[in-house]
Amino acid sequence: MAGSLSCLQVKKYPGVKYNYESANTKGLFVVGELMHSRDFGTAAGGFIHGFRHLTVALFQLLEMDHHGQKWPQAQKFAPKSADLRNESAPALDIITNSLVHRFGRAPGPYHMFQVLQDVVVFLKNGEAVLLHSVPRAAVVKVIDSGFGNNATRYLTVTWAYGERFSGRGTDVFFDSRLALNASEAHRSNFRHPVIETYLGDEESWSQCTRHHVLDDANLGWSDRRVHVGPLQRHLDLFFGMNTIEDCLDWMKQQPKFVQLGKAEKQDIQFNDLLFDSTDEERKIGEVVTKVWLS
Ligand SMILES: Cc1cc2nc3c(=O)[nH]c(=O)nc-3n(C[C@H](O)[C@H](O)[C@H](O)COP(=O)(O)OP(=O)(O)OC[C@H]3O[C@@H](n4cnc5c(N)ncnc54)[C@H](O)[C@@H]3O)c2cc1C
Repeated sequence: MAGSLSCLQVKKYPGVKYNYESANTKGLFVVGELMHSRDFGTAAGGFIHGFRHLTVALFQLLEMDHHGQKWPQAQKFAPKSADLRNESAPALDIITNSLVHRFGRAPGPYHMFQVLQDVVVFLKNGEAVLLHSVPRAAVVKVIDSGFGNNATRYLTVTWAYGERFSGRGTDVFFDSRLALNASEAHRSNFRHPVIETYLGDEESWSQCTRHHVLDDANLGWSDRRVHVGPLQRHLDLFFGMNTIEDCLDWMKQQPKFVQLGKAEKQDIQFNDLLFDSTDEERKIGEVVTKVWLS
């Protein structure tokens, strides 16, 4: 196929959209190291251990966009029938255990940190569905095309480093670089899971809360006291929130680092990734930024 790849972002790499399609030639997709165009300076898309996961994701995106296929459902969770007050409540304890099981075993989100995310979509009937390794910039599209108005809220699991993990002039061996208590998990400096939650209404999705899972030198993140318990409590808290005002109230009570520091950085990156995106995607990026910076 004839076509060209303009270099929009970093000279070495071509400009590509969220689905790795050339920014200036419709129907021309890149696979392999060139996919690093979207995560240059962030994740491992320039290496085989990174782009092999992007390649699988590209296949799923092509299936979705061109063949009407839904993103594969890795796990489905039945509603929590024991909750007599609310028969359609999701089984948050089982979902928590499933997330923790993935923490130590999910190669896509681990290598393609901040780019590929596991997603749990919560449905009106109390069911929930786990999707593996969805590109961050495609999450809303994947949810909308797979579940439509049945999806009421969702969460994403992404891996992130702390702010002072690397960088020119950064003292990476600073005192207190190791967060030891669950209450300080937001200061975790090595790669660790971050759970972001979103509430939906009829028109759009809004970011609600953010939960850092404490650093774990053993890369298991499965200690019931410092990893599993706090995560489950956070999911319970999220399900107690029903409006964006609830979310904003929660954010105001958070340490500055959680509220602005990391969020601001990540969301700017998120917007950067949308440099060639559709109006709809850009709108989502703006909503996320607005919510976190307000
Ligand atoms: C020294 C070094 C060490 C590395 N170590 C690791 C490592 O330990 N782990 C890891 O995961 N990754 C590593 N990498 C990165 C990894 O090797 C590359 O990311 C990977 O090989 C890229 O694969 P690719 O198929 O996308 O591109 P390439 O392997 O570069 O293949 C592109 C192919 O396209 C051909 N081509 C180019 N232009 C045209 C054209 N116009 N028409 C027709 N054909 C064309 C080229 O000749 C080439 O054969 C390393 C890279 C280097 C340089």
